[in-house]
Amino acid sequence: MVHLDAVKKDNEVVTPASRGLEAVSAADINDFYTNVYGSHFAVDHMSHHEMPEREMPRQIAARMIKDELSLDGNPKLNLASFVTTYMEEEIEQIMTDSFSKNFIDYEEYPHTAEIQNRCVNMIARLFNCPTEASGENAMGTSTIGSSEAIMLGTLAMKKRWQNKRKAEGKDASRPNIVMNSAVQVCWEKAARYFDIEEKYVYCTEDRYVIDPKQAVDLVDENTIGICAILGTTYTGEYEDIKAINDLLIERNIDCPIHVDAASGGFVVPFINPDLLWDFRLEKVVSINVSGHKYGLVYPGVGWVMWRSPEFLPKELVFNINYLGADQASFTLNFSKGASHVIGQYYQLIRLGKSGYRAIMSNLIRIADYMTSELEKMGMVIMSQRAGRGLPLVAWRLPSSEDRVYDEFAVAHQLRERGWIVPAYTMAPNTEHMKMMRIVIREDFSMNRCDSLLQDYKLAIQTLQSMDNTMFERYEAHMKSSRDQPRNTSRTHSIYKDEKHSLQGKTGKTHGVC
Ligand SMILES: *Cc1c(COP(=O)(O)O)cnc(C)c1O
Repeated sequence: MVHLDAVKKDNEVVTPASRGLEAVSAADINDFYTNVYGSHFAVDHMSHHEMPEREMPRQIAARMIKDELSLDGNPKLNLASFVTTYMEEEIEQIMTDSFSKNFIDYEEYPHTAEIQNRCVNMIARLFNCPTEASGENAMGTSTIGSSEAIMLGTLAMKKRWQNKRKAEGKDASRPNIVMNSAVQVCWEKAARYFDIEEKYVYCTEDRYVIDPKQAVDLVDENTIGICAILGTTYTGEYEDIKAINDLLIERNIDCPIHVDAASGGFVVPFINPDLLWDFRLEKVVSINVSGHKYGLVYPGVGWVMWRSPEFLPKELVFNINYLGADQASFTLNFSKGASHVIGQYYQLIRLGKSGYRAIMSNLIRIADYMTSELEKMGMVIMSQRAGRGLPLVAWRLPSSEDRVYDEFAVAHQLRERGWIVPAYTMAPNTEHMKMMRIVIREDFSMNRCDSLLQDYKLAIQTLQSMDNTMFERYEAHMKSSRDQPRNTSRTHSIYKDEKHSLQGKTGKTHGVC
């Protein structure tokens, strides 16, 4: 075994020259002799709690990490996630080269800042943002995913409401926000972190989107805004944003709408350009979108746009001066990598509108095919077709008295075949309903779809051949594999029984069981 020690003794400065080695460095020698699996590191237990005292050779550290990560699921087979798992090599290289650029350093990297501004302009126009004839930059910023974008959108709505209340000499201490109980968890976080009361419109057995009338009925003088979702996480349906907008106008209510277009923002403009959901609706004041979902960039980039300065109160914006020009900054963090913003710019200019349109229509076609095949197998389809919703398929098993297995068992079967297809319980008030969902992403071609369908049929056949006693044993097997140390909760014991989120209360989950 060759350890660093063999080349370098403590306190001894070794140069290749001092050892008579002109052409090779000590590091080269070490690299050459290090045999990962013949070293003591291969038989040592990796430290899980205390940082190791001593360094280890880089190729051993890299190999240990690589080997451990190979036990994670394969991202391409993870059909639970909306997040991009494929980008072209050309941009991968540029993104890697940009790892060392701190995005916030506008002075050092003015072109990266300029690239962000171009993305903001392009995306704002894609969402039909009213732009002044002056051709000024649109109001918006890159974020770390839709979560940060939603936090910023929520803060802006809260600040504007507070300013309005204070100007009227009214109490501004009890803000609330109206939203569907099927919101993504980041909305609960935004409300909780910024002390805003959550007012929910609940889903029913046959409605998984917000009811526009109920939403507007919930609005009172303390409402900072209504959140409407363009593509819900559960069924991918588009909420009727126009109906909410029209009701607010009809009743003359001064309440803004923020559209959570995390998934739909890069789908709808290409698939249903006539659907009114964006800044064409006058009550829509801000919109977020995840660049790393159908924006087709690796995780983590998001975007948030405002209709006009009126809806982004000045107190929240900081000006950072670079090369004599001010760059406005409105973010929760300071430093972050620049790669993802650059990745987004690549996709926008590389694909153009027709490129995005071609990809999105293919995904819709595959989702429709998958839908009809699952329907042929008797599954009850809960998602939309023909581009009326996101390219995903949500379904549940046919109701049947004598079926012993459930959606979670099907998910488990598929998991054993390598596929990650989540089973869920629905949002609060409908949590007795179980469902499954597959997100069709860019790299999910028809060929992969066929393989999945084949495995799905096999999974159902396997489960159907089980009688009650056999299924009981299978359930025990599912439970024991859930309880394996590798799969046990990663939550600190103090927080494990958290009950304040909808997820904590209802067991809403994004993972497979
Ligand atoms: C994914 C998602 C979010 C969170 O977005 P991130 O980009 O993952 O932070 C919020 N809302 C909806 C509707 C989503 O689908």
